[in-house]
Amino acid sequence: MVKQELSGKVCIVTGAGRGIGKAIALSLAEAGGYIICVSKSEESCSAVAQDIQIRGYSAEHIAVDVSSLEAVSVACKSILGKHSTVDILINNAGITRDNLMLRMSQQEWQEVLNTNLNSCFYWTKNLLHPMIKKRWGRIINMASIVGLVGNFGQANYAAAKAGIIGFTKSIAREVASRGITANAVAPGFIQTDMTSKLGENIVAELLKNIPMKELGMPNDVAETVKFLCSQGARYITGHVINVDGGMAM
Ligand code: NAP
Repeated sequence: MVKQELSGKVCIVTGAGRGIGKAIALSLAEAGGYIICVSKSEESCSAVAQDIQIRGYSAEHIAVDVSSLEAVSVACKSILGKHSTVDILINNAGITRDNLMLRMSQQEWQEVLNTNLNSCFYWTKNLLHPMIKKRWGRIINMASIVGLVGNFGQANYAAAKAGIIGFTKSIAREVASRGITANAVAPGFIQTDMTSKLGENIVAELLKNIPMKELGMPNDVAETVKFLCSQGARYITGHVINVDGGMAM
C-alpha cells in the first residue's frame, strides 16, 4: 500500500484501546487516516490517540459505551459536528461472557449481543447517510471464526458474530451502488487480553487445530483491515476474510 493512501479519510475505530483495535488504529494512522479512537474507558482510548500523535500521525479519542444506542448517537452527532463526515467505520469493540448454554444467564447473553452486534447497528445507522452523500465509504465489522463454526461455551458470542456476518452482507448489498463497501474480518485466535484468560492447556489444545501452529498477532488482523480500506479493495464487498492461520479453511 502507498503510505499515505488514507490521507484525508476520517476513520472511527471502536475498541481501539487495546489489542486488535489498537493495532488497527495505528495501522490506519500510518496510512494517513485521521483516527477517532473509541473505547469504553477514557484511559485506554486517550492513551492510544496520544501514542498515534507522538508518532507524528493524527488522532483524537472519545470514550463511548458502544452497547448503548443513546451514547453512540450522541458521539456520532459530536463527531459529525466536528468533521462533517466519517469515511471509514471499523466496528471492532467486543467482549466475551463465556458459559455453557445450560448455565448462561440472560445478562451474559444480552451484554454480548449488545456490545458485539447491536453496536454495529448503532454506529452504521448513524454514519451511513453521510457516506452515501459522499458516495464513498468503508465499513469493516469484526466477526470471528466462532461465528462460522460455533464454539463450546460461547453460544452468545457465536450468535453475535454470526449476526455480524449476516448484517455485513445485507448492508453490503444495500449500499454497493453508492461507492461503499462492507466486509467482515473473522480472526481465529489472536494474542490479546481477550485470549490471555485462556489456560495453557486450552491454548495447547487450540494449537492442535491451527495448521500454522501459532496464535495470530493483532497486526495480522490490522493489515487485513488496512487492505480492505484501500483502493485496491474497491471491488471487494459482502465478504468475510478469515485471519486464522488456516483454522477454519
Ligand atoms: P480486547 O483486547 O479485550 O479489547 C477490547 C476493546 O473493546 C477494548 O478497547 C475495550 O475498551 C473495547 N470495548 C469493550 N466493550 C466496550 C463497550 N461496551 N464500549 C466501548 N468499547 C468497548 O479484545 P480483542 O481481542 O482486541 O478483540 C477485538 C475484537 O476482535 C472483538 O470484537 C473480538 O470479539 C474480536 N475477536 C478477537 C479474537 C481474539 O482472539 N482476540 C478472535 C476473534 C475475534 P476498554 O479498553 O475501555 O476496555
